[in-house]
Amino acid sequence: MAKKTPISLEGAVMTDAGLNYKGVIMEPVIEKCEGCERIVPFESSNYCPSYAKPSAKWAKGACNFATHTRNEAGKGGKAKVNPLKASKRAARGR
Ligand code: SF4
Repeated sequence: MAKKTPISLEGAVMTDAGLNYKGVIMEPVIEKCEGCERIVPFESSNYCPSYAKPSAKWAKGACNFATHTRNEAGKGGKAKVNPLKASKRAARGR
């Protein structure tokens, strides 16, 4: 359960299928990831070294690895973020 140090996408290769990082195709981060410290820019997109598919991660609720929602999630114990509000908030903050 050691805390991972920030990962870079060193060695990642852009392929026709997407960004290939150690054999895994990485999908770019989604809007809800905005502000997360785990985001790693690679070429013209941003990627998440923690999750290959951020959209799938968020589809189940707030990403438990998100650094920008952790405080909210920590207060009530369980993350209870309205995804619509969260994305609106993210949009406004830019
Ligand atoms: S850790 Fe979660 S919120 Fe952060 S970039 Fe990855 S998928 Fe997005």
